[in-house]
Amino acid sequence: MSEKEKSAGQTLEEKLSYQKRNYYEIASKKELAEIYGYAEGYKKFLDESKTEREACETSVRLAQEKGFTEYRFGDPLKAGDKKYFINRGKSVVVFRIGTKNLEQDGMRIIASHIDAPRVDIKQNPLYEDSGMAFLKTHYYGGIKKYQWTAIPLALHGAVVLADGRKVDIRVGEDAGDPVFYINDLLPHLGQEQMAGKATRIIEGEQLNVVVGGLPYADEKAKEKIKLTVLAALNEKYGMHEEDFLSAEISAVPAYPARDIGFDRALIGAYGHDDRVCAYPALTALLDCESEHTVLAMLVDKEEIGSDGTTGMQCKVYEDLMEEISVALGANFRKVRFASKCLSSDVTAAYDPNFAGVYEKNNSAILSCGTAMCKFTGSHGKSNSSDASAEFVGEVRRMFAKENVVWQTAELGKVDAGGGGTVAKFIANLNIDTVDLGVPVISMHAPWELVSKADVYSNYRAFLAFMK
Ligand code: MN
Ligand code: MN
Repeated sequence: MSEKEKSAGQTLEEKLSYQKRNYYEIASKKELAEIYGYAEGYKKFLDESKTEREACETSVRLAQEKGFTEYRFGDPLKAGDKKYFINRGKSVVVFRIGTKNLEQDGMRIIASHIDAPRVDIKQNPLYEDSGMAFLKTHYYGGIKKYQWTAIPLALHGAVVLADGRKVDIRVGEDAGDPVFYINDLLPHLGQEQMAGKATRIIEGEQLNVVVGGLPYADEKAKEKIKLTVLAALNEKYGMHEEDFLSAEISAVPAYPARDIGFDRALIGAYGHDDRVCAYPALTALLDCESEHTVLAMLVDKEEIGSDGTTGMQCKVYEDLMEEISVALGANFRKVRFASKCLSSDVTAAYDPNFAGVYEKNNSAILSCGTAMCKFTGSHGKSNSSDASAEFVGEVRRMFAKENVVWQTAELGKVDAGGGGTVAKFIANLNIDTVDLGVPVISMHAPWELVSKADVYSNYRAFLAFMK
């Protein structure tokens, strides 16, 4: 129907109604190529960054390639400086000093996390039983334990040896590497297992990782399969069994990020939550030419509560913002009051296969752009910082100016569950903060799904916010 043939009601409806749009449907040819092109860099980042340590390292390397240099507390700073601050190798803040007055303009901050749910190796993990050597584990973050059985796993981490040397571990990613495995029960004998509650199908103490099966060729050795594994670890890393005491090793899915679908519109990968926000935060900061002072905080420990020296609740991030303010001769209280933050974490995408837990009008729909959550929390918005209408309005205008395709979202139906992000920790510092992140299907599964359009929309949103 042409414009002329529209009825008055149709015209009025178009003018007054809000309709979210699928980004793929409205993207120009050029934009479509950018969406697919951007996804290639993201997939590479994912494959190189399966733990917070690796994500930190990859981010620093990408920053260095763009001329950023390391900042340490007390270093002088001036407008135009491009810096990164590494916190214990597990979190990193990449930042640029702008030309605007810091007390009046504040900082533009994007905060994402680079840790992801996984299965961590215990401190005294190695034993053998019935033809197999295993590592005992304690899972990290909110996982459905049964999803982590019967899939190929890689081991990533760091071991501090008795003499203080640190060795990195990364096995199961390269072609030709062995992988590791958590057993599940065959259906033939699974009658009782399958009748139980899903939370008990696989118990925490059953998440034991198979790491060997070859007995050491010596009749007199006691635990022969365990010894073969120890000998291999000693040869490769100089490790003794005791060195597990001071190790951080994680079992993560061994497969790389892959396109999903005949049209390659979607990406399947381990750890979209929250690298799908961390990567756009980082690349937007590296690519932008902002007059503001801008920071991308890529932090650790979000999945277990943001505590500790590398989590968002640590004073180190506040210290860094204060150091920047002091170095530029600005009053930190004024700076915080004028600052703005996007807490960038993923949200649940509406899943038609599980429609019952969502309220569709207020859920993120796949490919309709990055999703803003005015509030998170659960049961009456509890534990949420709930951004103000004024701040949401301000961010909305930033996005409109740059034609960012975005949507709003709530994590599921009221009282269906809920979740939190780092937003409240930043808002508590007296910094206006709202959540914005990519909608994810099968969040916290060993393989999660996102839309390439949403990943690119997130990047575009960050560019608009920093502009
Ligand atoms: Mn997250
Ligand atoms: Mn999460």
